[in-house]
Amino acid sequence: MDTPAQGRNRSSIDNEHSIRVRSANWHFTSKCNYHCTFCCTQKNEGDLELLQTAADVFHHLRRLGISKINFVGGEPFCSPLIFDLVKLAKEHGLTTSITTNGSLVTAEAIDRLSPYLDWMGLSVDSASDDTEKALGRGYGRHVSHAVHLSRLIRNAGIRLKINTTVTQMTASEDMHQVIATLSPDRWKIFQFLHVKGQNDHAVESLSISDRAFELFRERHMDVRLHNGFAPVFESADTMIDSYLMLAPSGNIYQNTHAPAPEIPLESIQPQDLPGILNIEKYSARGGIYDY
Ligand code: SF4
Repeated sequence: MDTPAQGRNRSSIDNEHSIRVRSANWHFTSKCNYHCTFCCTQKNEGDLELLQTAADVFHHLRRLGISKINFVGGEPFCSPLIFDLVKLAKEHGLTTSITTNGSLVTAEAIDRLSPYLDWMGLSVDSASDDTEKALGRGYGRHVSHAVHLSRLIRNAGIRLKINTTVTQMTASEDMHQVIATLSPDRWKIFQFLHVKGQNDHAVESLSISDRAFELFRERHMDVRLHNGFAPVFESADTMIDSYLMLAPSGNIYQNTHAPAPEIPLESIQPQDLPGILNIEKYSARGGIYDY
C-alpha cells in the first residue's frame, strides 16, 4: 500500500510510532437538513442501517486502541440511530462525542443523551444569524439557537465544543463576544477546506488565503475559554489526512484521496494506522488532549 509515511525520514517515522491515534470520526449518516455552501461532505451518500454494524465497529476501534468516537455526518440528528449509537459506544468504554449543527437538538434530546454523551460540538461560524443564513448554515436562527443550547448542554454536564469554519464572509469578524457567551470547553477554528467533488462551487466565493486565516488567528489567539484553554486553529493543510474517518459502512476512508477506496476496519492492525493518516499532523492539530 502506498502510504503517507513513505518518503519521510527515520526519526519522523519513529516519532509517528510513539504517538497513538486515539480518536475516530464516524460519518455514519450523509443526511442533513442544512445546505452550508462550504460543506465538505455534501456529496456523500449512505447511512448506517444496523446497530449490529456499530457493535462491530466499536469492538474494532477498541482493538486498535481508539478511545474516543465522534459521531458526525451529514447531521447526526437526522438519523434516528444517534441515541442508541451513543449509548452503545459508551457501553463499549469509548469517550463519546457528537458534532451537530444543533438545529434538531432539543432539551429532551440532551436529557436523553446526558448519561452517555461526554462532548457535544456545535458549529458556529459567525456571531451573526444573517451571516450564517447567507452561508447556508440554517434559516436565520442558527446563532441564537446555539446560545440557547450551549446553556442546556453545560447544565447537563456535557462538555461543549464550538467548531468554526472561517470563510471570506467571516474572515474579518471578531468572535470574542459570542465565544464568551457560548462559553465552550474547547473552540476549534478551521480554515475553509476545498475537497474536490464536494464544494468546488464555493472555492471562488468562500476560500481564504493562509494569510487571511493567520490574521483571524492573531485576532483571536488571546481568547481563553472558561477552563483556561486556548482555542485550536486548523489550517486547510493541517486538516488533510489528519483524521481517522469512517464511512457509514464502518470502513476507513479518506475524502481527500480521489477516488476514495474504503479499507475494511477488521483488516487493520494498530501498527497500520500511521500509514493511513498523517500522525504528525494528527498530533500537531491537537488530536490528542484530555478527553
Ligand atoms: S450542517 Fe454540516 S453536514 Fe450539514 S450542510 Fe452544513 S456543514 Fe454540511
